[in-house]
Amino acid sequence: MPRRSASTSGFTRREILAAYLGLPFALAGCSTPSPPALEGEIVGASDALGHRLRTGASWKPTADRWHRTGVLIVGGGIAGLAAAWRFLRAGFHDFLLIELETAAGGNSRYGSSPVSAFPWGAHYIAAPLQDNRLLIGLLEEMGILEGRDRDGEPVVAEQYLCRDPQERIFYKGRWYEGLYLHAGESAEDRAQWQAFNKEIDHWVGWRDGRGRRAFAIPMAAGSDDAEITALDKISMAEWLQQRNLTSPRLLWLVNYACRDDYGATLEQTSAWAALFYFASRLRRPRAEAQPLITWPEGNGRLVAHLHGRVRDKVRLGLAVVDLHPTDPAGRRGVDALALDHATEQVLGFRADQVVFAAPQFLTRYVLRPYREQPPRHVGQFEYGSWMVANLFLRDRPPSHGFPLAWDNVIYESPSLGYVVATHQRGIDRGGSVFTYYYPLCDANPRAARTKLQGMDWQNCADVVLADLNRAHPDIGALTERLDVMRWGHAMIRPSPGFIWGGARQAASRPYRGIHFAHSDLSGISLFEEAFYHGVRAAEEVLKARGVA
Ligand SMILES: Cc1cc2nc3c(=O)[nH]c(=O)nc-3n(C[C@H](O)[C@H](O)[C@H](O)COP(=O)(O)OP(=O)(O)OC[C@H]3O[C@@H](n4cnc5c(N)ncnc54)[C@H](O)[C@@H]3O)c2cc1C
Repeated sequence: MPRRSASTSGFTRREILAAYLGLPFALAGCSTPSPPALEGEIVGASDALGHRLRTGASWKPTADRWHRTGVLIVGGGIAGLAAAWRFLRAGFHDFLLIELETAAGGNSRYGSSPVSAFPWGAHYIAAPLQDNRLLIGLLEEMGILEGRDRDGEPVVAEQYLCRDPQERIFYKGRWYEGLYLHAGESAEDRAQWQAFNKEIDHWVGWRDGRGRRAFAIPMAAGSDDAEITALDKISMAEWLQQRNLTSPRLLWLVNYACRDDYGATLEQTSAWAALFYFASRLRRPRAEAQPLITWPEGNGRLVAHLHGRVRDKVRLGLAVVDLHPTDPAGRRGVDALALDHATEQVLGFRADQVVFAAPQFLTRYVLRPYREQPPRHVGQFEYGSWMVANLFLRDRPPSHGFPLAWDNVIYESPSLGYVVATHQRGIDRGGSVFTYYYPLCDANPRAARTKLQGMDWQNCADVVLADLNRAHPDIGALTERLDVMRWGHAMIRPSPGFIWGGARQAASRPYRGIHFAHSDLSGISLFEEAFYHGVRAAEEVLKARGVA
């Protein structure tokens, strides 16, 4: 009989390991017992509250609980915070931001411990190219940049650039430098790796009739030429096949890139999105990819900065449950109802305009006219789920081969491995916090979400420890605490046909005083895209109000 763990989910340990790490692995993994003294919990992401939005309950505030504001921002992730930040930069103060969770930041949230701050989601951005003036403005304000180089490109202060060694990969019992596995490659593997990079160089150098790059950050600055948008019609797997690119290690790397940035496999990812990943971060053909900017708490540093600027305007722990455009002419006037989940009170907000910076799928539950008749585009937004765990270690596990890096990836695992929170601070000894990332790339995102929500803490801890045990047999003994975040609607999936198929373009248009802003409107989930949409929506509102 398989051993039944102390889990409350009703699944055996073997069933859970088989579902997450594969059956052969589960058989082997079951022989590694969970450490008895491990503490931890499932944190954050208020699933229960999110689900209450969908019950269709009739919410009604008492007459004394109505508030008036010029603009209401719904959602305090990067997009919502960016909208608030833009308002204040324009000298516009008549707004409030409402966030469902008790902390701001959305998928870029972070935590802290006596050893180090650590991320719960997003952990880096690429250094911006000179055309991304928006992001440069923010990074200048934060003191991250130190002027320009000879080509006019921004120079990032050394301490914010990801320290070496940046990446390593575990393969057959040993760690190797980098993410592409050079060790043991054949001449054919090498030739295909070069051919792939040549294709990328082609797109890096490509310009359309208006001088726009094929793939720019934010994506709105890139080309919408038919030659480029056609790449969205096929999957990255098909694109590789069409070029006879079949080298297993090349396919592994491209698949890894899709899982890492989009939580999807190369069969599930549009070729446009996968090529964007590789081509948008190079200045020019054959250049190195732009360096990475990171902090111990990952993009939590950006959250803390933005939140710090707009703190007075932010109300946490309030979920918007109903948006009702009241102006028959449809330009101004939205009544919003919000549930305070600490007190169970319903509050009303009477706003001229709303910036809706929450994910698009929620509009069908929250936006009253959509609830009655959801537009077609809403159903086309699909989201992948992620499990993230933070392991609090009394000491680092020893390594065979290349030493501990910032990003540590296991070749044979469906997870993405772990990022080391203490790395950026140059602390190379003693306790640390490892952030473990697992994207659920199942074909059916809804089934994957149900699967993840059915996991209790014990199940999650079993998966994380069994997976890391491949590279670190003593990981269980070194872990003092393990906390888990289950991100249900973690990331928009750039499935073939989604990015240029019209849904996100339709969803981005203002609707009766409601201006939409979320990274899902780009079809790819990145800090820069969230930031862009927040600022864009804020500027739409400022223009509509006649504020310069
Ligand atoms: C595990 C993980 C790792 C990632 N790593 C990176 C990375 O390294 N680099 C990178 O650039 N990007 C990364 N991302 C992508 C990340 O999603 C974006 O960078 C960015 O944080 C998205 O911001 P957003 O504002 O668009 O969305 P969200 O973060 O989804 O913010 C939406 C906000 O709206 C709130 N909300 C929802 N419903 C309501 C409601 N009814 N009322 C009020 N508020 C509501 C939510 O609580 C949330 O705070 C990662 C994402 C995940 C999940």
